[in-house]
Amino acid sequence: MIETIAPHGGRLINREVTGAEARALAERARALPSVRLSSRDLSDLELIAIGGFSPLQGFMTQAQYQAVVDGMHLPDGLPWSLPVTLAATKDDAAPLKEGQQVALADEAGEPLAVLDLEEKFPYDKQHEAQQCYRTTEEAHPGVAAVYAQGEVLLAGKVTVFRRPPAAFSEHRLTPAQTRAAFAERGWRTVVGFQTRNPVHRAHEYIQKCALEIVDGLLLHPLVGDTKGDDIPAGVRMRCYEVLLEGYYPRDRVLLSVLPAAMRYAGPREAIFHAIMRKNYGCTHFIVGRDHAGVGSYYGTYDAQLIFGEFRPGELGITPLFFEHTFYCRACQSMASSKTCPHVGEQRVALSGTKVRELLAAGEAPPVEFSRPEVAQVLIESMRDRAQAAAGG
Ligand SMILES: [Zn+2]
Repeated sequence: MIETIAPHGGRLINREVTGAEARALAERARALPSVRLSSRDLSDLELIAIGGFSPLQGFMTQAQYQAVVDGMHLPDGLPWSLPVTLAATKDDAAPLKEGQQVALADEAGEPLAVLDLEEKFPYDKQHEAQQCYRTTEEAHPGVAAVYAQGEVLLAGKVTVFRRPPAAFSEHRLTPAQTRAAFAERGWRTVVGFQTRNPVHRAHEYIQKCALEIVDGLLLHPLVGDTKGDDIPAGVRMRCYEVLLEGYYPRDRVLLSVLPAAMRYAGPREAIFHAIMRKNYGCTHFIVGRDHAGVGSYYGTYDAQLIFGEFRPGELGITPLFFEHTFYCRACQSMASSKTCPHVGEQRVALSGTKVRELLAAGEAPPVEFSRPEVAQVLIESMRDRAQAAAGG
């Protein structure tokens, strides 16, 4: 069987049980003390269970947490850039004893998994914020999420016996499934594209540039929690589907969703996104300008530069760095500042605000900016949301 790349740490983790084993564990979980998970925790739980976070088998211990926060590596030396932790309030954590089992429940209180509680420990939120997000400002959505969570971290291996019901189930492939799909198509090299936005011509161009040098493209939109003003995942999925149908060769692209939540940690999250895609079987990963950034917390190229902090080959996956791209009327093609000498009016450039204004007015952006089919989906979704808001 063709293998694209080994998972991070060498082995794909699977912390999920099924059938009789799952039924027995679900029964046992009823008698255990229970902790309720946030939707962001549930994203992390799912990624641990399916191996998206390989080699992690559970929520981080204190040694893992400190090594990652302070040194971007796990204690065994493997690169890892962001904490994967389970926070609880002091009150919730107080009765829990190290060495015991704890049921992990969804937001409705339904148990999904069992945590073998190895450790519970306090942590310094401000230190985590400064190290991982490069700011302690609460205005940063990732930092705000850290500040809002409990004061104690619960660590240990997890075993999931019921995956939470989730959207986009037909596109929700596990790392084992994407790897099998790549093998079936005979792809030896695959580029992963992270997105939490509709794909416009600029992103399409970047993806296709990358696809010129590898066998396949994994279009891998993130569908876990995002900021409230990001475009809803369902709308984005429709955009991807119409785009792929009209403009991509079917046998060269796989569309699947990543259940991760956005942290907006910029450079550190670029590394985090790359490691996850390695687990999904990608050999290459696209990193654009301001990857996973928010506001003006990060420099334009910080998310590309951070890859230089790792030794060659240490991450395994190869990052592909791209400039800002656009359609140039003089070049009569898509281009970037790296490939086009023209300036000003020749380049079709629209701000995010301008695009939103056009779409809200029912107007499609220029065809050099967005495919008409994609613009149509966005216009309709804005109309539906406006009507829903007006209707109460
Ligand atoms: Zn040009």
